[in-house]
Amino acid sequence: SITISQKVRKLRPSASIAAKQKVDELRAQGVEILDFCLGEPDFDTPAHIIEAAHQSMLSGDTHYTGSQGTPALRQAIADKLKRDNGINVPASQIVVANGAKQLIFDIFSATLDPGDEVIIPAPYWVSYPDIVSLNGGEPKIVACGPETGFKLTPDMLEGLITSRTRWLIINSPSNPTGAVYTREEWLDLIEVLKKHPQVGIMTDEIYEHIAFEGVKNHSPMAVDPSVADRCVIVNGMSKAYAMTGWRIGYAVCPPELVKAVVKLLGQSTTCACSFSQSAATVALNADQSCVDDMVVLYTKRRAAIVDGLNAVPGIRCKAPDAAFYVFPDVRALLGSKTAAGERIETDLDLVNYLLEEAHVALMDGTSYGLPGFLRLSFAASEKVIAEGMTAISKAVSKLQ
Ligand code: PLP
Repeated sequence: SITISQKVRKLRPSASIAAKQKVDELRAQGVEILDFCLGEPDFDTPAHIIEAAHQSMLSGDTHYTGSQGTPALRQAIADKLKRDNGINVPASQIVVANGAKQLIFDIFSATLDPGDEVIIPAPYWVSYPDIVSLNGGEPKIVACGPETGFKLTPDMLEGLITSRTRWLIINSPSNPTGAVYTREEWLDLIEVLKKHPQVGIMTDEIYEHIAFEGVKNHSPMAVDPSVADRCVIVNGMSKAYAMTGWRIGYAVCPPELVKAVVKLLGQSTTCACSFSQSAATVALNADQSCVDDMVVLYTKRRAAIVDGLNAVPGIRCKAPDAAFYVFPDVRALLGSKTAAGERIETDLDLVNYLLEEAHVALMDGTSYGLPGFLRLSFAASEKVIAEGMTAISKAVSKLQ
C-alpha cells in the first residue's frame, strides 16, 4: 500500500479551503448561506484581459514558455514596479510563477535548511506557517493585536531574531486585518534588521491596489534601497485584476535567488500558463481604470460591513486600510450562552453558532493565529452584506 510522508501528514489543510467546502456542502443540502469566507474578488476578470488571452491563444501562445516567465510579462512587471512602487529593477530580477503562493513556497524551498527560522507576525495569512514547515523551516509566530494596529513593532522584532533567523515575512496590506505598514514603520523595522544581515525581508503585497482613503503601499526595497539586496517582493494578478484562476504571480528577487527559484520551477511546473502570461502583460500595460472601478465598489461594501458589525453589541470592528477583509474583535461575546444553553467559549464556537443559527459563514481568528477575532471578507455583494449583518445581529442578540 502507499504511505503518506511524515511532512504531508503533519500539514494542516488550508483553513479557508476547508471553510469553502463546508459552505458548498450546506448549499448542496439546499441551505442558503450568506458567505463571508471568500478569499477572492467576486468580480469577473475584466473583458479586455479575457480578450487578450483569446487573441494570444489564436496567435499560437499555447506552448511552454521559459521557466522565469516571458520577457514581455517581466518587462511589464518591471514597468509597473517603477510606476507604482518607485522601484527600478531589471526584468532579469523578476520571476513569474503559478500564483504568489507558488513563489512564496519556492522561495522558502530555495532558502531554508532544517531549523532555519522565519518570523511570521500573527494574525497571518493561513498558508505561511505550513509553507515554512513543509520546507523544513521553523515558523516563529508573534501575536500582534489591536494595540499595535495588528502590526509588528521594532521591539517585538528585535526580541525574536536569532542567528537562525532567515526571513521576516510581512503581508502588507494584510489578509486578514487590512493593516498597511507606513513608510515610518518600515524605517523603524529596517533599522533593527540592519543589525542582523542574515535576515531577508519578504513582503507579500498582493492586496496593494485594493486600498482606501488614499492609503499607499510601501515596499521596504523602495523605503531604504540600502537593504534592497535582501528584500523580496511577492505580488500577483489574482486580487487587483480579479484573476485568481489564471494563476499568475511574480516575485522580485536578488539575482542569486532568481537562479535558484528558476531551477526549482524548471524541475517542477516548467512555467506558468502561456496565455495567462500574455493576458497579464496586457492587464499591466493597459489603462488601470478596471482596478479603480473595483475599488469604488469595495469602498462602499467596506462602509456597510464596518457599520453593520459595529452596530452589534459585543462586536468591535476597525475600518481596514486596505484589502477586502475586516477582522472584528468578538472577545466580549466569549463566555456567553446560546438560547439552547451551549457555551460560546472561543471564536471557533462563535463561527459554528453563526453558521447554524444565522446561516452566515465566516472565519475564526484562531485559524489566522489570533484567537478572539473573526474574519469576514467583503468581496460579497451589498445585498449579501446587508442580509448578513441583520442575521448576525439577530443571532448575537439571542446570546446571554
Ligand atoms: N498572499 C495572500 C496574503 C493571499 O491572501 C493570497 C490569496 O488568498 C495569496 C497570497 C495567493 O495569491 P495567488 O492567487 O497569487 O497564489
